Amino acid sequence: MSVLDLARPEIRAMQPYSSARMEASGGRILLNANESAWAPVGDAGQGCNRYPDPQPAALIDALAELYGVHHDQLLVGRGSDEAIDLLVRAFCRAGQDAIAIQPPTFGMYAVCARIQNAGVIEVPLSSSFTLDVDAVLAAITPAVKLVFVCTPNNPTGQPIPHGDIEHLAQALRGRALLVVDEAYLEFADADSVAGLIDRYDNLAVLRTLSKAWALAGARIGSLLANSEVIALLRRIMPPYPLPLPCVAAALEGLSAQGRASAFEHIRVVRAERSRMASALATLPGVREVLPSQANFLAVRFDDAGGVYQRLLAEGIVVRDVRRYPNLGDALRITIGTPEENARVLTVLQGAMA
Ligand SMILES: *Cc1c(COP(=O)(O)O)cnc(C)c1O
Repeated sequence: MSVLDLARPEIRAMQPYSSARMEASGGRILLNANESAWAPVGDAGQGCNRYPDPQPAALIDALAELYGVHHDQLLVGRGSDEAIDLLVRAFCRAGQDAIAIQPPTFGMYAVCARIQNAGVIEVPLSSSFTLDVDAVLAAITPAVKLVFVCTPNNPTGQPIPHGDIEHLAQALRGRALLVVDEAYLEFADADSVAGLIDRYDNLAVLRTLSKAWALAGARIGSLLANSEVIALLRRIMPPYPLPLPCVAAALEGLSAQGRASAFEHIRVVRAERSRMASALATLPGVREVLPSQANFLAVRFDDAGGVYQRLLAEGIVVRDVRRYPNLGDALRITIGTPEENARVLTVLQGAMA
């Protein structure tokens, strides 16, 4: 069987929209897409009188090289959020199929499923926020088409061992697509599981330039998967997903200079993460700092609501994650610059004194 047998049959069968830019490329006088023949006013919009390349080759090549996959195993979209949405729409029939997630985890998986009217099967993480592979597998019904796992997990920060991911991919083969969200992988000790895509046609990996690459505002996320899955999603993606200025920003971010900057900042975040984890753990009123491999720390407080307000009063905004299961006393604090982190500690020391 092909992994595409898991996808919605009507999506496999449909005739995709064929945009002007897809039907013809090259040429010097472009009169096929009803664009303006005149450049817009201002530097920021240069080139924007023309529709952009749907999947710009230079960006695909740079990302495929970065993530270690073949260019036909990569789809680039408006953040990994778009890839999550496309996966749910391509694989889950409304009112029939479902996804599986392990709360507490990133909220977009369930939101995309609910928009599609797909079911959401929840298999909670353990009390120490590890993934229970056997429990996940036991919960997989024939309706489940997508299993999302997040490593390191947001909002807890723990990674999933590679062995567990491979075990899941193997056990789900022919039954469901395993989607591994590696939004924070750059901050972790572990490597990507993208190298397993050649072995498991039901494995997909999400990567993003939003976190470690300092490009959240450009909205550039990638899906790495079997080339048939990528081709299927390209058929249902809007015709021109990537704004030209965003593609330019991504290419600069991925240049030698951009890479050097990203790697330096990843190094700083990792060092600050360990410094902050130790310093926070010694503060009165802090119950626990969860071990994190991401660019944030989930911290349990005696009075998380009070701490949140206190930080806010000082102009420091952190994420209140108390609504998540098992995190009823926790805040999620992103690692900032050394100066920003020092300020957080100063305010908390004052608040706890
Ligand atoms: C931030 C985040 C994303 C979203 O990334 P975009 O590429 O900006 O859409 C995806 N997954 C997780 C777990 C995240 O925390």
